[in-house]
Amino acid sequence: MESKCQFLASKIDSEICGNPVDTYHGFCKKHEYTVQARKKMKEQNDKITNGRKIQIMRNEYGRFEHKDSHIIFDMATQKAYGVQGDGGEVFELGEEEIKYCKLNGFGYQIKRKNIEEEIIFDDQVF
Ligand SMILES: [Zn+2]
Repeated sequence: MESKCQFLASKIDSEICGNPVDTYHGFCKKHEYTVQARKKMKEQNDKITNGRKIQIMRNEYGRFEHKDSHIIFDMATQKAYGVQGDGGEVFELGEEEIKYCKLNGFGYQIKRKNIEEEIIFDDQVF
């Protein structure tokens, strides 16, 4: 993920905004809902969903959520990593959600604790 806002003020002047990034799709707060930002968000959506008509939108907590299932995605890895709770908390993917990911072809990652309490990621790419 880019660490500087990629917003271009004009097509002639190729200087990017450069503010620190506040959003998962690489834009600062000021530019997160611009046409350029929306286009980038759509591209990221399409990467996850392979262009199918599945909408993953930024939710009120700033996470990228699939509205039907409440599954949330990490835009850096393009993978599902949790479920959005009503109070803003994030739950780990359960069996139902994993099944849903498999059915819809979403990549996902599950946190698993081994004996040393280290968190390892179990990656599934489809
Ligand atoms: Zn910006």
